[in-house]
Amino acid sequence: MKKHNFYAGPSILSQYTIKNTADAIIDFAGTGLSILEVSHRSKEFVAVIEEARKLVKELLEIPQGYTVLFLGGGASLQFCMVPFNILKKKAAYLETGTWAVNAIKEAKIFGEVDVVGSSKDENFCYIPKGYTIPSDADYFHYTSNNTIYGTEIRKDPDSPVPLVSDMSSDIFSRPVDVSKYDIIYAGAQKNLAPAGVTIVIVKDDILGHVDRPIPTMLDYRTHIKKDTMFNTPPVLPVFSALQTLRWYKEQGGVKELEKHDLAKASKLYDAIDSSRMFVGTVKNPEDRSIMNVCFVMKPEYAELEKEFIDYASTKGIVGIKGHRSVGGFRASLYNALPMESVEVLVSAMKEFEAKH
Ligand SMILES: *Cc1c(COP(=O)(O)O)cnc(C)c1O
Repeated sequence: MKKHNFYAGPSILSQYTIKNTADAIIDFAGTGLSILEVSHRSKEFVAVIEEARKLVKELLEIPQGYTVLFLGGGASLQFCMVPFNILKKKAAYLETGTWAVNAIKEAKIFGEVDVVGSSKDENFCYIPKGYTIPSDADYFHYTSNNTIYGTEIRKDPDSPVPLVSDMSSDIFSRPVDVSKYDIIYAGAQKNLAPAGVTIVIVKDDILGHVDRPIPTMLDYRTHIKKDTMFNTPPVLPVFSALQTLRWYKEQGGVKELEKHDLAKASKLYDAIDSSRMFVGTVKNPEDRSIMNVCFVMKPEYAELEKEFIDYASTKGIVGIKGHRSVGGFRASLYNALPMESVEVLVSAMKEFEAKH
């Protein structure tokens, strides 16, 4: 049976990415060797990582003065690398979910943290508004898409201080005005590649202003100087990332991907909003994520949650169980998910509702 993959991460990848990765595991670029066994310094792999960096720049229209890095350690390592490199005295953070909480915890190791807005009081089901970013902060950090709670900030914020964003779960789902940012980072396993690589886009002149010593591997300048090859990069995830980036370009770039993502999300939110049985957990339509759609059963049907997951699985639907901190369901609609999968989910919801 055809599977419809709604996992939140690691998550669905394009067939183009999977097929080309499988081929390269057997024979990489006609070398007669597997991608798993070639030197990262081979000219074939250097060409891969260079093209991947170039395509990230092209797809996101990154201006001069920024460097694209492919690092290990996941997005979680960036929670400490960002303050290590740029927090002098005080940083401002927006607290919109578990990942933001984790980022704040790390920043506190390096200085004062001003939490300028928080939605913790309502289990992160909305995006805080009307907050003020202090002009004496070294930077402002926010999470663009809250993977667990299904909220998203799709407009690049105005900030009086350098802007930093964790875009792990919505990068490449919309055009971004990179010139507004100083650091953008994203773990690849949500919308790009298998786990193991993190994209970091860093504005070169934000670095070098802190007094503390920085361990070599945690200093962005180390990786910038060595063209993101200071040590062995995650070779296979970088190869897969390149395949996805090529596929994104072929799809027409991020503007086209966004159209497709918006259409998928509105199809699913419409079905939830018009349902007698299901209800969205994010009330404000403008706060709703187009990548991770969170919903639950209305209280009177709550005992049917597990039955719905089982019913959906008979239709090939995989990965819709909600995160334990929200419960219910979460359907992740990353770029590679076809509209057909959303249609199958919506039909399953309607059929299940009719049965009960
Ligand atoms: C998944 C996720 C992370 C954590 O990523 P790791 O690569 O597992 O460290 C951080 N931020 C966001 C927004 C995420 O979705």
